[in-house]
Amino acid sequence: MDKTSSFSSQEGKPIRCKAAICRKAGEALVIEEIQVYPPEAFEVRIKILCTTLCHTDLSFSKYDSGPLVKFPRILGHEAVGVVESIGEHVDGYKRGDIVLPVFHPQCEECRDCKSSKGNWCTRFAEDLVSNTRRYGTASRFKDSMGEDIHHFFFVSSFSEYTVVDIAHLVKITPEIPVDRAVLLSCGVSTGIGAAWKTADVEEGSTVAVFGLGAVGLAVGEGARLRGAAQIIGIDINPDKFVLGKKFGFTDFINPTMCGDKKISEVIKEITGGGVDYSFECVGITSVLSEAFTSTRTGTGKTVALGINPAAPTELDSFGLFRGKHICGSLFGGMKPKLDIPILVDRYLKKELNLDSFITHELKFEDINKAFDLLEEGKSLRCILWMDKK
Ligand code: NAD
Ligand code: ZN
Ligand code: ZN
Repeated sequence: MDKTSSFSSQEGKPIRCKAAICRKAGEALVIEEIQVYPPEAFEVRIKILCTTLCHTDLSFSKYDSGPLVKFPRILGHEAVGVVESIGEHVDGYKRGDIVLPVFHPQCEECRDCKSSKGNWCTRFAEDLVSNTRRYGTASRFKDSMGEDIHHFFFVSSFSEYTVVDIAHLVKITPEIPVDRAVLLSCGVSTGIGAAWKTADVEEGSTVAVFGLGAVGLAVGEGARLRGAAQIIGIDINPDKFVLGKKFGFTDFINPTMCGDKKISEVIKEITGGGVDYSFECVGITSVLSEAFTSTRTGTGKTVALGINPAAPTELDSFGLFRGKHICGSLFGGMKPKLDIPILVDRYLKKELNLDSFITHELKFEDINKAFDLLEEGKSLRCILWMDKK
């Protein structure tokens, strides 16, 4: 299929299209006609082919206060699209390229982008408040009344078209099916990256993953590919254990079935003293404390992935003094432009299991059903197709 066949001579002009707008915290999204303005310098306008829902979208559809909260807004940050038009000073992209927008930036020029340590981008990553990366509050979206609509984490994929800065864009080979590529735009890359980059899980190690959504299951998949000997999944929803087996999990614990015992006690019992690595993939601070307590004294490492911007975390300070490590990880420590193509390659070589993350598919107009499915714990990733009738 020629993914550019529907582009007419819209280049340089606003495009009218449909978007799902979050007008107020906690309310269903509303499909509205909007205008998407042309890309400015260093920006690209893309036609979204499909998008998925990550728990972060669900959380931000509900938060009603704090500096990161703005309405009306176009949420969505896991997507794959095709380049429709490009602004000035955009090198390396052309109309028709298949691209993944990614919420975490990589300018490729700053000290941290040039370093092989971590994935921080000193130039851009600090700012989560602006609408557009280089233009502050300027928005590329207007509603039918001519009012600005806010962007979300520099992606806003719940729209047929969006404008993305090149620091947030990764070109990928069209060989990978778009409904597999979309998974690499946030959750799955984050989980695999956390196992590979942030924790650097090695062969024969023991791992505990708290929360078996797409992020947690991807941590398991990353640990499996590294040859971990034991991968323990912890979730209050036992339906996730069936899925966990597809990603190499060896043991499962349901916290609601442990009686008076703490999860960390159960984990220490079955591993003979605690796991080498634990990962929090829920976003609950008490779960993070338990994940930290579950690791081996002296060497254990805990990675915090779940997002909970509001709550302080209590940790066992003796554990810290006894040499345990804990750190957070944005986008799994992956440098998007360097590391996503590696994941694409591993998928094409049939090494990486992406297929099992897709539990549902819907047309874009049914986006609120996708929110319900995720909230009810019924889906991992629901592919929302833009063009499906
Ligand atoms: P999800 O809703 O699909 O999965 C969360 C899982 O946690 C569910 O299976 C749920 O049953 C389970 N759970 C809930 N309470 C629990 C508890 N008390 N103990 C154990 N399990 C529990 O979400 P997801 O899309 O996989 O995202 C997971 C988290 O990761 C979210 O907080 C999201 O915001 C965050 N996230 C972070 C990054 C990052 O860069 N750090 C990137 C993507 C997502
Ligand atoms: Zn940078
Ligand atoms: Zn996400």
